[in-house]
Amino acid sequence: MPDAPFKLDRPAVALVTGASRGLGRAIALGLADIGCDVAVNYARNADAANDVVAEVRKRGRRALAAPADVSNAAAVEALVKRVTDELGAPGVVVNNAGIGPVSPVFETGEREFDEVMAANLKSAFLVTRAVIGSMRQQKWGRLIFLSSIAARVGGIISAPYAASKAGIEGLMHYYATQMLPHGVTSNAISPGFIATDMLKNAKLPPPEQMPFGRLGAPEEVALVAQLLVANGFMTGQTIQVSAGRYQT
Ligand code: NAP
Repeated sequence: MPDAPFKLDRPAVALVTGASRGLGRAIALGLADIGCDVAVNYARNADAANDVVAEVRKRGRRALAAPADVSNAAAVEALVKRVTDELGAPGVVVNNAGIGPVSPVFETGEREFDEVMAANLKSAFLVTRAVIGSMRQQKWGRLIFLSSIAARVGGIISAPYAASKAGIEGLMHYYATQMLPHGVTSNAISPGFIATDMLKNAKLPPPEQMPFGRLGAPEEVALVAQLLVANGFMTGQTIQVSAGRYQT
């Protein structure tokens, strides 16, 4: 990742959900680079999360590995309390945690729909609900939601995945409107195909049919997260990071 082009002009604690791997890891490190202390949430991968914590600390920032299933309301309340007690109230929240089990169109079941919606959409509601009170008190906050081009083009993962990402953009717009008077911005990042574990089982087009002939890098998404945290005059936006697969 290139050197951060700016530093935040205030101290901030960032809670990044699903930060043990993939996009969440790159975003956690990118936010440390611009001056945030970081809570590294994860579901199961403690070793990977501890590695991210060590990398954040190498950047001179405080960090905490914080396991919690963010689709569970009680776990989210406990997570936010722990982060607040140990690092301070989160002013930056990146709703990144998610799952993307590939499921063919005629085979997707009700249980899978519920699981994907809980992990990808309900989780973002629960986490946001748990942090907006203290953002209002601070009169400052940055909410970032990880959408996907699947929200607009359907994508290659599954019906519930596409629906969960369309829902994420609705949540983002709701909070953008409601939190405007409180100094809190709310934006979404909508990646295309990015090289992470999530795409391991997806049927990707061959490289020659991909824009720029390659997958995106997690760091290319993290650059946008840095911008959305540093910029206080952007809200209600969805930024596409998809090499033009979806254009606005
Ligand atoms: P990934 O590599 O599969 O990593 C998923 C992360 O989410 C891991 O840190 C995992 O923790 C965590 N997680 C999953 N369920 C969780 C839960 N219930 N509670 C807490 N943490 C949970 O995924 P990724 O590709 O980085 O995706 C990150 C986000 O970007 C997702 O919202 C995804 O939909 C979105 N996105 C990805 C792409 C892409 O091409 N990769 C494109 C568009 C959008 P553990 O390590 O502990 O399992």
